[in-house]
Amino acid sequence: MLPSTGALRPLGVDQVRLTGGFWGDRQERNARATIPHARHWLEETGWLGNFHLAATDDLAPHRRRGREFSDSEVYKLAEAMAWEIARGGDAPLDELSTVVAAAQEPGGYLNTMFGRPGQQPRYSDLTWGHELYCYGHLVQAGVARLRGGVRDALTNAAIRAADHVCVEFGPTGRQTLCGHPEIEMALVELYRATGTARYLDQARLFLDRRGQATLPDIELGRAYFQDDVPIRERTAFDGHAVRALYLACGAVDVAVETGDDKLLAAVARQWERTVATRTYLTGGMGSRHEGEAFGDDFELPADRAYVETCAAVASVMLSWRLLLATGEARFADLAERTLYNVVAASTSLDGRAFFYTNPLRQRGAGAVLDRSRPWPRASSSERAPWRDVSCCPTNVARTLASLGGYVATVDDGGLQLHQYASGTVTSGGTALTVTTGYPWGGSVRIRVDRTGDAPWRLSLRVPAWAGEAVLSTPEGARRVQPGYAVVSRAWRAGDQVRLRLPVAPRWTEPNPRIDAVRGCVAVERGPLVYCAESVDHDPALALDAVDVDRSAPLTERPLPALGRDVVALDLAASTTTAAGGGWPYGSIGTADQEPGNLTLVPYHLWANRGPATMRVWLPVADPHATGR
Ligand SMILES: [Zn+2]
Repeated sequence: MLPSTGALRPLGVDQVRLTGGFWGDRQERNARATIPHARHWLEETGWLGNFHLAATDDLAPHRRRGREFSDSEVYKLAEAMAWEIARGGDAPLDELSTVVAAAQEPGGYLNTMFGRPGQQPRYSDLTWGHELYCYGHLVQAGVARLRGGVRDALTNAAIRAADHVCVEFGPTGRQTLCGHPEIEMALVELYRATGTARYLDQARLFLDRRGQATLPDIELGRAYFQDDVPIRERTAFDGHAVRALYLACGAVDVAVETGDDKLLAAVARQWERTVATRTYLTGGMGSRHEGEAFGDDFELPADRAYVETCAAVASVMLSWRLLLATGEARFADLAERTLYNVVAASTSLDGRAFFYTNPLRQRGAGAVLDRSRPWPRASSSERAPWRDVSCCPTNVARTLASLGGYVATVDDGGLQLHQYASGTVTSGGTALTVTTGYPWGGSVRIRVDRTGDAPWRLSLRVPAWAGEAVLSTPEGARRVQPGYAVVSRAWRAGDQVRLRLPVAPRWTEPNPRIDAVRGCVAVERGPLVYCAESVDHDPALALDAVDVDRSAPLTERPLPALGRDVVALDLAASTTTAAGGGWPYGSIGTADQEPGNLTLVPYHLWANRGPATMRVWLPVADPHATGR
């Protein structure tokens, strides 16, 4: 079940238990609210009903509901439930598994959109049909079940589908691929879970076929589905962001299992360039609405940021794979940033409404969304209960249910903590308890509850944003730098270590090449990005016109309306009103400044108090403006 090669080995979701705190609370909310909510909407939209109709041979085209990829939402919810059960929770998975398995056809084919009388034939539209993409999610759901130690109707359906794919698209089968990558990583994961080598071979075949102009050209170009250039030859992630990142995950999986160091290095290089030039402060990826795509280098507008939630989930999955392969802290750093500022932001405080796009600037406050119906994907003034394209809620649900798996790893020398959350970690004869109020507080205490006699290394990630931290061990306290702080010793039960990360608020500047936010600053506190939201301010204070003075202090205060321990920041600011009207260009002349105050809240909590305007990037006051 483990990757064959790599610097670090993952732990099972039953080996890392989150107990309360930022992520533990969200994991509980996911189980209690989001998973049942998604189950309800799959029924409501008929996307689950499609499987019932398919099983009873009653699926005339006019009776099928939802888009061509709606089957995958049932599979992603099944995966979320499988992780939930594997971590010791409860979820009604058996019912979903039975419904899915009953719809599978002899030979393993399974899709409610194609192949029945009156429907398009099987595999007649691989460019847009998502048949292999849907199998990928079915297989990942089956793998989650296998990793929980269970073989059932769902795992059998997944294995039958994977076998069908290997026959249908193998070396002597259809020499083509799916418009949406996803099957690649799923097949490698199934190979790890079963040991069946042909799943790995098939994944490598799909990877090698992509980039050879195998799919037809489209208006957005073949870059949209990464079929323009082989992945080994790319320089950065391009095209549809979720597709690009899912493909990169599959490439890392294939590279690790086949010892293909060049392929691994190619993806790591693309990650590096993408992080340096095409990533938002929140960790969000994919700036263009057109094609849901990565933009050019430094094309990172705040208001038109697309930043699909699924691209953030995909980015976390990719960073995790690169972390396991290399052991380098920068991958865990980006995963942390993305988890706190996009994945956490995507879901409402009640766990029942979701963003699809995650812009860093909302210009219009919009209206309260009717929670009784689905909404278009890109509406961003409020989170919606469900969307016509609703890939994100189930993607977040499976991520939160399996989040324990992203916290810690082991290698031959010891244990590594990559993300800080209260809970317990066990591996072999070693057991730890982690206690922390992170990210609100920067103190992380680790107690060794059980250990063998032989010495081992405990490695604690010091995030790049921290600059420096203080580590206290039984031998004394010392300053530690970003990367991994390592404590190597013969541990005894009861030993404690404490890491103190500096979570005081700090100013952050953008690279000036990001034209859209040049001359602005943002505020971060620990791993959290902050924003100004209109609901905290007098309606007369237009966020459009606000300026900040970087020399002004940032004052912390609790904000219980948004949750226990939540810290808001207050600072002096001013609003600048330029002369003129009717035409916003020309010689604007002297501007008037009105002093005021600005409140900043954690970005991931915005839009939980009704429609609001919002901005992350804050213009720095113009020293030439006249005070009033
Ligand atoms: Zn999505």
